[in-house]
Amino acid sequence: TPKVGVLALQGDFREHLAVLAGLGAEAVPVRRARELEQVQGLVIPGGESTVMDKLSRAFGLREPLRERIADGMPVYGTCAGLIMLSDRVLDALPDQQTLGGLDVTVRRNAFGNQLDSFETDLDVDLLDGPPVHAAFIRAPIVEAVGPGAETVAALEDGRVVAVRQGNLLGTSFHPEITGETRFHEHFLSLL
Ligand code: GLN
Repeated sequence: TPKVGVLALQGDFREHLAVLAGLGAEAVPVRRARELEQVQGLVIPGGESTVMDKLSRAFGLREPLRERIADGMPVYGTCAGLIMLSDRVLDALPDQQTLGGLDVTVRRNAFGNQLDSFETDLDVDLLDGPPVHAAFIRAPIVEAVGPGAETVAALEDGRVVAVRQGNLLGTSFHPEITGETRFHEHFLSLL
């Protein structure tokens, strides 16, 4: 059984732990560098990227996380997790840092007002089967995809909401809350 972690500093890490356990993985919360050392892959959940950034530094996890990402560990980030994996962020707080790894530019909280949170169906090239029912909650948009990264899904208007690069995968939306397990299955297949 693969042992995988979910970054558990903040956000909806419990939902990801449940999805991964349901797929037969040994899934553990990661809050310390020594816990990170013991996992073969990591999910970074949704939540608040500014807080996750601060806590990752306070817990001494920032550099270990950057090293594992550079080493090629499979990482799947949803929403705030996608922001954490992005090389560039628009509408970030002044001192906000990301871990990086995905050659993309994301904009935080990119859907204003009544579109703040919404659900829609998406075709995702990476996955077999029916469209993905995707929930967006104060979600980021991928505004630019650099040459190192690849678009995995876009809204009908062309705005990019899922990307990958090597062993890194990021989605603006939250499959862990709609019963969608295919992204997590894909993540586990990378181990
Ligand atoms: N708006 C949040 C951020 O900037 C992301 C929201 C989410 O993860 N659902 O981190």
